[in-house]
Amino acid sequence: MKLVFASNNKNKIKEIQLLVPKTIEIVSLEDIGCYDDILETADTIEGNSILKANFITEKYGLNCFADDSGLEVDALNGEPGVFSARYAGEPKNDDNNMNKLLSNLKNKSNRKANFKTVICLNINGEQHLFTGIINGKIIEEKIGTNGFGYDPIFVADGYTNTFAELSIEEKSTISHRGKAVKKLIDFLK
Ligand code: IMP
Repeated sequence: MKLVFASNNKNKIKEIQLLVPKTIEIVSLEDIGCYDDILETADTIEGNSILKANFITEKYGLNCFADDSGLEVDALNGEPGVFSARYAGEPKNDDNNMNKLLSNLKNKSNRKANFKTVICLNINGEQHLFTGIINGKIIEEKIGTNGFGYDPIFVADGYTNTFAELSIEEKSTISHRGKAVKKLIDFLK
């Protein structure tokens, strides 16, 4: 069975292909000739993953899954959430996003935050959502150079290092994305 991953990120696609049963062939947007700019206009992370998966299923009639992620900060009522990629505006810039977040959290004692990934799977006329969450806190300065996004300022509960100080393998065993992908794989098995 062919299953579209609504992404062109070759690393993500390869990683997932290795984990799913051999009867499932993961194909990218490019593979199906989709070059549309799929708009992410929902106001929740769930909503955007659904928008992306539905776009492909409705336009191409194919089984498909899509993911969307973000950082939710308790003291900011869940911000930046669905706006994580462009929190400090266009063009998207990780450093500016972190600076804005640190500035908005200045003098706040509640530093609790979580990363969340939602994967929406449309398969054989059914829709399933898989959510992965990692709880932690936002520290006061950037530490570490690995990863991307808000990794240098996020420390997971039970850890002393930031996500940007962990190896890719360490991060993916505990991360929001790793957890959501595991739920998807378990379902597909
Ligand atoms: P996406 O939906 O996976 O593209 O994530 C949207 C945005 O959320 C990214 O551009 C990052 O700013 C932030 N984000 C998501 N996952 C992570 C992560 O694992 N580490 C750091 N930032 C992340």
